[in-house]
Amino acid sequence: FSSQAPIRATLFPGDGIGPEIADSVKQVFKAADVPIEWEEHFVGDEIDPRTQSFLTWESLESVRRNGVGLKGPMATPIGKGHRSLNLTLRKELNLYANVRPCHSLPGYKTRYDDVNLITIRENTEGEYSGLEHQVVRGVVESLKIITRQASLRVAEYAFHYAKTHGRKRVSAIHKANIMQKTDGLFLKCCREVAEKYPEIKYEEVVIDNCCMMLVKNPSLFDVLVMPNLYGDIISDLCAGLIGGLGLTPSCNIGEGGIALAEAVHGSAPDIAGKNLANPTALLLSAVSMLRHLELHNKADQIQDAIVSTISEGKCRTADLGGKSKTTEFTRTIIDHL
Ligand code: NAD
Repeated sequence: FSSQAPIRATLFPGDGIGPEIADSVKQVFKAADVPIEWEEHFVGDEIDPRTQSFLTWESLESVRRNGVGLKGPMATPIGKGHRSLNLTLRKELNLYANVRPCHSLPGYKTRYDDVNLITIRENTEGEYSGLEHQVVRGVVESLKIITRQASLRVAEYAFHYAKTHGRKRVSAIHKANIMQKTDGLFLKCCREVAEKYPEIKYEEVVIDNCCMMLVKNPSLFDVLVMPNLYGDIISDLCAGLIGGLGLTPSCNIGEGGIALAEAVHGSAPDIAGKNLANPTALLLSAVSMLRHLELHNKADQIQDAIVSTISEGKCRTADLGGKSKTTEFTRTIIDHL
């Protein structure tokens, strides 16, 4: 691979622990001789009027041009009256599906050893449409938008993913018994798409029951597809099943095949700048980016080195019960490459 021309990918180190874990990814990629040239973009100090957020237009253009990127966590100041950085990225790049693989990590013991599921979250609408207002004093309203177009798009992605990844079943998660119009439309779209994939079993599970089933027996599920807010909650629940936020990768899929991989955790301000963060989630997200680019050899090599480091148990960060610093953990992964 080293003789191949480098592939350009956008990198947002992000806030808080972001630069520390992004540094870990850069070091591991360099040591593994991955043919990626990073185009780094930082969150600005001022609002860019073209994006109405602290993300510059140039940084969004970079993702559009490269088609692939990796994103560290971005902090969202509460109630400051500007667009959330994550929402800006999702909207501007039309990142319509968030894909989170949740697999038990060999060698890291949790309650279950056999978690192997994929959550696919609709990423652009639902309760995240940002349409909230006060009706009268003491009464506020928030609009949940569900459209046929976005529901069909994410359902199609989920079934296509299941088919191309050898998965057998897709479960649509909903609360259509209460949200009859919105979740009802979401389900209708999932059913329509399911008919085109007779080889994939399709089922519908009410969200509260889904939570209970997941914590009792996660192997009941395979691929789960759901509207935005349910996806936010269920995917964190699934992260908890395999050992927490420090281990869970994700990838955002956009129109035109854009893939922006990101760790699911936030900027962890409590440990930022202390060399304590676990870089695994961002590293595994970077691995998923390599798989998207079909650089499977490099992806396998890095994933094996991470798994060996964690299962060996000698070098683990504090969130996994160890005492190692981010830099020591990174060094050990590099030694395992
Ligand atoms: P958080 O995920 O940052 O932290 C929750 C807890 O998990 C903290 O105790 C933290 O120390 C720990 N943690 C998280 N990642 C870790 C890692 N890699 N290694 C070790 N420990 C880790 O959640 P929060 O505190 O609710 O959010 C902080 C900020 O991050 C907020 O501004 C929030 O808006 C933002 N956020 C961003 C994203 C994103 O960019 N995708 C996601 C979630 C939260």
